[in-house]
Amino acid sequence: ATNKKRSLADDVDNSNDNNAQQVAEHYNTRRELGVEGRLHTKITGLRLFNNWVKSILIGMHTFRGCKVLDLGCGKGGDLRKWSYAHIGEYVGMDIAQVSVTQAQKRYSELHNARFPARFYAQDCYGEPLTKTLQPPDYRADVISAQFCLHYAFETERKARQMMRNVSEHLADNGTFLCTIPSANWLMKKLRATEDLAFGNSVYRVEFAQREPVSVYGFAYAFTLDEAVEDCTEYLVHMPSFVALAEEHGLELMYCTGFHDLYSQNIGDRQNLELFQRMRVVDDSRPHISPDEWEAVGIYLAVAFRKIAK
Ligand code: SAM
Repeated sequence: ATNKKRSLADDVDNSNDNNAQQVAEHYNTRRELGVEGRLHTKITGLRLFNNWVKSILIGMHTFRGCKVLDLGCGKGGDLRKWSYAHIGEYVGMDIAQVSVTQAQKRYSELHNARFPARFYAQDCYGEPLTKTLQPPDYRADVISAQFCLHYAFETERKARQMMRNVSEHLADNGTFLCTIPSANWLMKKLRATEDLAFGNSVYRVEFAQREPVSVYGFAYAFTLDEAVEDCTEYLVHMPSFVALAEEHGLELMYCTGFHDLYSQNIGDRQNLELFQRMRVVDDSRPHISPDEWEAVGIYLAVAFRKIAK
């Protein structure tokens, strides 16, 4: 039955499957603000908060010496977090060549990186990773996809290729860790307005229609001040994502909104100290504005485990 499903899915019309180059171009042409610049934007608090969340997730799901494959690694903004987690080896991949070059540079400038790293410019959703990833039977203990997996939900073919890539390159009992916009949260907001658009002073979401016609390819334009502008993204229909993962031998372990993740983790002394060290709060004043806090609510942290055969 699985084989039948696969070949059917592979035959799905791919005429809508052309956003990858646009996404690559979008990220390739983004202005690099630098560390100082990033501290003085309207979304500085949001960035710091998201970095804290990713640090917590990385701490929760990695172990000393583990092999990490980062799909959609961007400019390598998480390299320091992986370094603090004492990982053993890192492979970063992203469709945007400019970002990959910046990630490579960031790695070479990281003083305390005690792990070897490799970087590749590669479409991680539209193509098999074996095109570039060596050896072809490479397996990571953790596969991470932070704030980027929603691009795979443009078509069923892409989502399936993404999941095949994850399943083929994840070790038994390994973790697939991702952060994605919550489809429920976005749909709730859409249904609460008579318009097709909503947002506040830091973000804006605009749909072209009110209801999805299919599980894949339900697009919206996303703008986040100083980060992305009118970028086409796709809703991740969670039940379909979980079913697809199960079909590829992965089971859902964890799915939590960022607001809940904050409440669940801030009580821990180490997490609170990290919160303070990462400057999400300064002199116990939060950097984060109410509008940024609303935007935080867009995101979900999701983790799957690959079931050992
Ligand atoms: N993961 C990084 C982080 O958390 O800072 C970057 C997140 S950025 C919002 C989204 C990234 O996804 C961009 O770097 C973009 O180039 C990458 N991306 C989008 N589609 C991709 C694809 N098909 N294959 C690989 N990377 C992709």
